[in-house]
Amino acid sequence: MPNTLTLALSKGRIFKETLPLLKAAGIEPIDDPDTSRKLILETNQADVRLIIVRASDVPTYVEYGGADIGVAGKDVLLEHPNAELYEPVDLEIAQCKLMTAGKVGEAVKSGRLKVATKFIQSTRRFYAEQGQQVDIIKLYGSMELAPLVGLADRIVDVVDTGNTLRANGLEPLEHIADISSRLVVNKASMKMKHARIQQFIERIRAAVAEKNND
Ligand code: AMP
Repeated sequence: MPNTLTLALSKGRIFKETLPLLKAAGIEPIDDPDTSRKLILETNQADVRLIIVRASDVPTYVEYGGADIGVAGKDVLLEHPNAELYEPVDLEIAQCKLMTAGKVGEAVKSGRLKVATKFIQSTRRFYAEQGQQVDIIKLYGSMELAPLVGLADRIVDVVDTGNTLRANGLEPLEHIADISSRLVVNKASMKMKHARIQQFIERIRAAVAEKNND
């Protein structure tokens, strides 16, 4: 739509942490996505709407123009290495680390490692850089289970406090990347709606800087 800005967000941590930044930029959703079943949320600004999508789908919606702008974790963006997107702002929210993990105290195994993860691209790249041969097993969730039932020697997952790993007898091992959420922008939208999007980016940048000064 020519004059509408569509923002793609995922529910949960990213939505909660993005709300204050949007508010500082003058945008407030009318419905609460935690209680509303609507996937398109109107906002206090008639020309700005939010769409609620799965976190891993945000780059796809933005790349193909289903949304002009999105908020996506760097972990998700690293899985879309060829996506044609601008990534103008590190929002410094939903911060965590992408790490390898294994059973506490387990001896290093020689030969090929079996690694369970949903982060296929980052995992392949990391072990290739280490010169380590691995078999990657794609999972969609509950990765912590894989070493416990002998499905894998290692997992690659995002780690915040490390509590989930510890609760399952696992420990973080190697650091792969620092993760935070990023603003991403559709390339055609950036051209066609340049002034509007540039103003939005500047307001969000200011809100991030303001938060850091608190
Ligand atoms: P932790 O605090 O390490 O126990 O993290 C709890 C769970 O939330 C883990 O299973 C992680 O997969 C997930 N998690 C932690 N931080 C993030 C984040 N910033 N984005 C997405 N998932 C996360």
